[in-house]
Amino acid sequence: MIDVTSVVRYAKAEHITCLCDEPLAPYTTFKIGGRAAVLVKPASEGQIAGLLRVCHAEGLPFYLIGNGSNLLISDDGIDGVVILLGHDFSQITLLDGHTLCCQAGASLSSVCRFALLHGLTGLEFAWGIPGSIGGAAYMNAGAYGGEMKDVMISCTHLDERGEAGSLSGDALELSYRHSAYSDRKDCITTVTLSLKEGEPAAIRARMDELMARRKAKQPLEFPSAGSTFRRPKGNYAAALIEQCGLKGVSVGDAMVSEKHSGFLVNTGHATCADMLALIRHVQKTVAEQTGYHLECEVRILP
Ligand SMILES: Cc1cc2nc3c(=O)[nH]c(=O)nc-3n(C[C@H](O)[C@H](O)[C@H](O)COP(=O)(O)OP(=O)(O)OC[C@H]3O[C@@H](n4cnc5c(N)ncnc54)[C@H](O)[C@@H]3O)c2cc1C
Repeated sequence: MIDVTSVVRYAKAEHITCLCDEPLAPYTTFKIGGRAAVLVKPASEGQIAGLLRVCHAEGLPFYLIGNGSNLLISDDGIDGVVILLGHDFSQITLLDGHTLCCQAGASLSSVCRFALLHGLTGLEFAWGIPGSIGGAAYMNAGAYGGEMKDVMISCTHLDERGEAGSLSGDALELSYRHSAYSDRKDCITTVTLSLKEGEPAAIRARMDELMARRKAKQPLEFPSAGSTFRRPKGNYAAALIEQCGLKGVSVGDAMVSEKHSGFLVNTGHATCADMLALIRHVQKTVAEQTGYHLECEVRILP
């Protein structure tokens, strides 16, 4: 086990919530994962920078998590510092009539509600994606024909040494489930969105419509991380998995959803090992039967 004394000391001095040997499963939508050596919940950019500086100075590995809705965490947990950006770092500010600046821990649902409240349209696609705005920016989350790329104009971040920076426009390198941050270790601290004036009733109606489609199509009754695999070029992961007869196939309590075969779900007490074995089984079967390689969309930690 790594020695996290320096992080604990810093967190105490700064009044940052700091939990040693903390189980991580409750922080993920899969409800899977072992313990973190230490989990911290910073509430300001200064605190995040301070934690990154301590990790850098002490050579401690750190891992960023938002709402844990795209994560599969090892059964052995994370022998490192887990920095959670969530409720404690979630302010949303209206900069001008249509520009929002969101701290990275704000949930997409709260940003969507904020936009609705201010009669701003453009973010309806994100209603029902259970992530934080930082996690959504990190992977250019999208659904129903919309994506973060359509509304996100810039992000601020802190690098591994705690130094501040920002990316905007093309430098964000937004493409299918990818941003410049997907290839970096930076911590996104704020996300700025540009929305348009809209009619609240129409915005609400679109949000309701998309939520109804999610409820009809997705196995929301089971813990999952959404679509487990990326969409392969020219096809759909769910269609390929179904075509290979994999619906309902399971390893332990990890199962290919009967309702939506793109979702691997935890039907009870699935372990990370179960889920990984099922992922590999699906990948192998689909590759053998169709020639398509399904790449994992879910991030596996550590
Ligand atoms: C039921 C369900 C439905 C879903 N539907 C969709 C959908 O329609 N479209 C879609 O795109 N996704 C969907 N997802 C997946 C998931 O919600 C998104 O990928 C979301 O953007 C992840 O955000 P998060 O805060 O949960 O990130 P986490 O899962 O906590 O982290 C994911 C990755 O982002 C990194 N990260 C998180 N926050 C930061 C930060 N502030 N700075 C730097 N890196 C960071 C983490 O290090 C990790 O590598 C779904 C998931 C579920 C469970």
